[in-house]
Amino acid sequence: MLRIESTCKVDRLSRENAPAARCKSGDTVTFATEDCYDGAVSRRGERSCDARMENPATGPLFVEGAMPGGALKVEILSIKTRPWGAMGTYFGKGAFRKYEGNYEMRALEFDGDFVTVAGHRLRLEPMIGVIGVAPMGEAVPTVTPGPHGGNMDCSRIVAGSSIYFPVACEGALLAMGDLHALMGDGEVFGYGLEVSGEVTVRVSAVPKMTLAQPLLLEGGRAMAVASAETLDEATDLAVQALYELLLSRGADRVEAGLLLSLKCDVAVCQIVDPLVTVRAMIPREFLANGGW
Ligand code: CA
Ligand code: CA
Repeated sequence: MLRIESTCKVDRLSRENAPAARCKSGDTVTFATEDCYDGAVSRRGERSCDARMENPATGPLFVEGAMPGGALKVEILSIKTRPWGAMGTYFGKGAFRKYEGNYEMRALEFDGDFVTVAGHRLRLEPMIGVIGVAPMGEAVPTVTPGPHGGNMDCSRIVAGSSIYFPVACEGALLAMGDLHALMGDGEVFGYGLEVSGEVTVRVSAVPKMTLAQPLLLEGGRAMAVASAETLDEATDLAVQALYELLLSRGADRVEAGLLLSLKCDVAVCQIVDPLVTVRAMIPREFLANGGW
């Protein structure tokens, strides 16, 4: 099976990036990934001063058959992480801007599938923070999310889920990194439980699937994931993406609206990246019979 090492990494997603590897549609590929600190934090929580990448993503992978005007389907088969995580503090920023505090780094050891924080034993639920393809326009840093995916920090991108991306260039150029062993919706203190690890995926070209935003299938739900300057704008984009998908399946304009009002749930993915991210979710069967 094809494996891409974590030394093959980028700090921006771009159509100009040279592929780290190539595969056929339907192939299974393992990505070894660094943490968001690019390995600069030790297991004792000490941060080295080496110049490192910010939020690196492993790849990109060129998928034969993936073409502009279509989509790339990425099935997340497994996510494995190292047995400890690192988290920096986030005082003076975002929701914590009113609180002063020095920047500190904490390393947290796992106990099997659990980590203990502030006396609470928490079950780990590994997810992918950064996953995306080359964007349509200019290169986008791997700290920024968008219609190409990227730093969406969506807690539902877990093993067993599938995510579809709109393809901007031949081969799609898939890259991923920034794994979190656990993260709450919002990522309110700036970081997930940051880990290096390995993600195994199956990638498939899906011709003629037009998407405005990434579409995630997980746990019986279909979710449009959208990013923008504000939560209001991101929410609009996510809801519009689902509405357009329903219309593309022949739904009536009014009935599709009624259906969304009744069964679409909106959730915040993250409020800490250069753009914020929202997901709008409907029962998966509403998008059935799409041929994918
Ligand atoms: Ca992230
Ligand atoms: Ca992160």
